Amino acid sequence: MTTGQPNRRELRKQLSPLQYHVTQEAGTERAFTGEYWDCKDDGVYHCVVCDTALFASDTKYDSGTGWPSFHSEMGDDRVGRRTDLSGGWVRTEAVCNECGAHLGHIFDDGPAPTGERYCMNSASLNLHRDDESADSPSEADAN
Ligand SMILES: [Zn+2]
Repeated sequence: MTTGQPNRRELRKQLSPLQYHVTQEAGTERAFTGEYWDCKDDGVYHCVVCDTALFASDTKYDSGTGWPSFHSEMGDDRVGRRTDLSGGWVRTEAVCNECGAHLGHIFDDGPAPTGERYCMNSASLNLHRDDESADSPSEADAN
């Protein structure tokens, strides 16, 4: 299925230092500093490393944590889960199933319908906004 791990040297060039740290070293960006924690634009959030579509903007909600939070993932098997014991307690780490990039953590205190909170790092995501791809020549819509 996968073509193997991305070349780390290439990733160093492709990603910002923070993006590299978060996705390849399981880092965490500081709360309220990321690009998307307060973003309400419509679109699809892709993996910043391999561009797999991971989250739809209509599953994003304001968790108050300072990180972009979602209650559901796109598809069935795009976000992998691993047990993470690094913080001294048990957490569920979320990774991109396609490339293995660290995304964030999944907690069980989220809203309906899943009751889960995907607490993601902006640095792991790349938002493809709806109005960037759908370039409709409509002039009927007034502001
Ligand atoms: Zn990926």
